[in-house]
Amino acid sequence: MTQRVLVTGGAGFIGSHTCVALASAGYVPVILDNLGNSDPRVLERLRQITGSTPKFIEGDVRDRALLARIFSDESFSSVIHFAGLKAVGDSVADPLAYYDNNVHGSFVLASAMRDAGVNTLIFSSSATVYGEPESSPIPEDAPRRPANPYGRSKLMVEEALNDLYRSQPGWRIALLRYFNPVGAHESGLIGEHPQGKPNNLMPFVCQVAVGQRDRLQIHGNDYATADGTGVRDYIHVMDLAEGHVAALKHAQNHGELVTLNLGTGKGASVLEVVQAFERASGRSLPYEIGPRRPGDVPAYWADPSLAQATLAWQGHRSLDQMCVDSWRWQQANPRGYG
Ligand code: NAD
Ligand code: UDP
Repeated sequence: MTQRVLVTGGAGFIGSHTCVALASAGYVPVILDNLGNSDPRVLERLRQITGSTPKFIEGDVRDRALLARIFSDESFSSVIHFAGLKAVGDSVADPLAYYDNNVHGSFVLASAMRDAGVNTLIFSSSATVYGEPESSPIPEDAPRRPANPYGRSKLMVEEALNDLYRSQPGWRIALLRYFNPVGAHESGLIGEHPQGKPNNLMPFVCQVAVGQRDRLQIHGNDYATADGTGVRDYIHVMDLAEGHVAALKHAQNHGELVTLNLGTGKGASVLEVVQAFERASGRSLPYEIGPRRPGDVPAYWADPSLAQATLAWQGHRSLDQMCVDSWRWQQANPRGYG
């Protein structure tokens, strides 16, 4: 029987790519999104890629009555919960908004699932829960010391879901800690389009390459890394999307809670990303070296071995591929879906 999966935040960056991966694995995604950080025109793009427009419910995960109605009107095998806020700086400026959306929203969702007897949940957590790690690669049992309200909101939900799992038999939960998702679907039809000035490296690089911004500012080149610039574990968003399908299958086949790092296990520096993007785009990328960004961790990358062993999955698309696909999306859609 075809399985319907409720995808909260499914109109967003990672959610939309996961809808593609779900559809190609034979699942039927149903999107719940308040469009706070996304564009409904993504639905038509999903139709072009998958051949069918996913059902879309415009609404907020914190709306208890809506959630009750959604679960009573149709049946779902499982939920993938992406909906939330994700800007670290904003979370410092307005922590209550982050706890309300990310923590309260997850509680409303989990309560509605419990009431409806839907007990399979995949949750978007983040490597931010580790804070500044003692060393890399980071295994899942490394200390969790998030350094900002965003990271703490993710850790609170992880802990609450652990308690829920212990309290009631039958829950099947995967807590997925993403490292740095970048890239776009290979069609160039869907991708990431941040509102306003991008905070993250790859969207900024894309906007410089396409001429929307003068130059990249590299936030420090005096770190104790090979070339002095910050190192992160970039993972292609389609690898991440496929990781969700693998986690969903695992959860459905094993009545357990798993906590897994989704990263590649390889770090790349800012300068390596710039060089890979120059190869991908054939353009030279103007940049300048600026001061360190306050709060930045110099370098970290995942130990993805538990995820690889548990899910029989791994991120295999290269940094070059991430840049090629980001560039294809950016060139074809310089203003996002508009
Ligand atoms: P995104 O902003 O593109 O997608 C989130 C989606 O959720 C958006 O479409 C937004 O409109 C929707 N949304 C937000 N609050 C909502 C609410 N209360 N009710 C309904 N819909 C709501 O972000 P993304 O990059 O796709 O991230 C998805 C998830 O992954 C988030 O939970 C984020 O914290 C987590 N995550 C992202 C990254 C990253 O670097 N992108 C890294 C680690 C974890
Ligand atoms: N970075 C940069 N210039 C930018 C944006 C980011 O040099 O305009 C650097 C940042 O200091 C970090 C890396 O790129 O070393 C990745 O930053 P991003 O914000 O994408 O991810 P995060 O730091 O949240 O892991």
